[in-house]
Amino acid sequence: MKVLVSVKRVVDYNVKVRVKSDRSGVDTANVKMSMNPFDEIAVEEAVRLKEKGVATEIIAVSCGLQSCQETLRTAMAIGADRAILVETDVELQPLAVAKLLQALLVKEGAQLVILGKQAIDDDANQTGQMLAALADLPQATFASRVEVADGRAKVTREVDGGLETIEVTLPAIVTTDLRLNEPRYVTLPNIMKAKKKQMDKVTPADLGVDPAPRLKTLKVNEPSARQAGVRVADVGALVAKLRTEAKVL
Ligand code: AMP
Repeated sequence: MKVLVSVKRVVDYNVKVRVKSDRSGVDTANVKMSMNPFDEIAVEEAVRLKEKGVATEIIAVSCGLQSCQETLRTAMAIGADRAILVETDVELQPLAVAKLLQALLVKEGAQLVILGKQAIDDDANQTGQMLAALADLPQATFASRVEVADGRAKVTREVDGGLETIEVTLPAIVTTDLRLNEPRYVTLPNIMKAKKKQMDKVTPADLGVDPAPRLKTLKVNEPSARQAGVRVADVGALVAKLRTEAKVL
């Protein structure tokens, strides 16, 4: 069973992002970039499926600039067998990525696509769902447990009220939640091995996809600065303030 895993290169989660002075977006110049954390979980899950003998080949896919190759090498150091870079300098939105993944899903004949539930830069939480719709395949989003057997995946999902377990027939689309697994550390020998693994490059045109953005960002603002708190003398004073000033009681 071939598994396709998507990995997005995003601003590292430890970086405090700065909004560009013209408010057109976030400044990414000289900023540390890493694999989207939910995608690390996706690669780890695929590798565990291979270790269990369920998956036979793991193909990591990243869409974007040439620098995404670094993210793909990391995916291969975790354990992906090969990688595909869909190279473009067009700003990619979830619909375009979903179309590109769908084309690769068909081309590769994958039985399972594992994506992160959301990218921590755009926080869209859309690509997996759009891919399932475009490919007309079942989806199991926000997975915290995945078991694959007999052409089916049993997936436990994190929902508002607790956990929901569903079964989908393969091929299917799964998106990962935080508690699905803890990705392994990438070791130096595996980084060296990853350098020798196959990395193919295609363009959106090769896949017959027009990646042009459909949405326009009007402006991006910094969150407003938080005001300093005040210390109150006792519970009575706190209740009085909540009632008269905050007006929440
Ligand atoms: P989003 O819908 O943008 O929040 O992203 C959800 C998931 O889609 C991510 O965790 C990735 O697995 C995948 N994804 C989104 N954009 C890209 C990209 N440019 N390249 C590869 N995967 C992507």
